[in-house]
Amino acid sequence: MISAMAEPKKGDEFKPGDMCSRSGIYRVVHDVEHKIEHEVTVIHGKPFPPCRHCGQHPRFILERAAQHILSNEWFSEPPPSNRYRTVSVRGQRPPK
Ligand SMILES: [Zn+2]
Repeated sequence: MISAMAEPKKGDEFKPGDMCSRSGIYRVVHDVEHKIEHEVTVIHGKPFPPCRHCGQHPRFILERAAQHILSNEWFSEPPPSNRYRTVSVRGQRPPK
């Protein structure tokens, strides 16, 4: 079991239901009778999901941590205090 306080690092292992605290590329190890290992991108803030085939069996092993783009200061939504800098980022306008 990984301490919730520790920053996940390469090689750390998680199971379905564990909270993903670090976005990145994870190697998934399924039940040997289901599927060979493969890699997935997991976004932090949600629990690792169970497999639709082998349930709670999969283990998610952090291969490479990578910040989610919306967590990056230059790509995230501006905080409410910055709303006066009105820039139409999404190009959304009210319909007429
Ligand atoms: Zn599976």
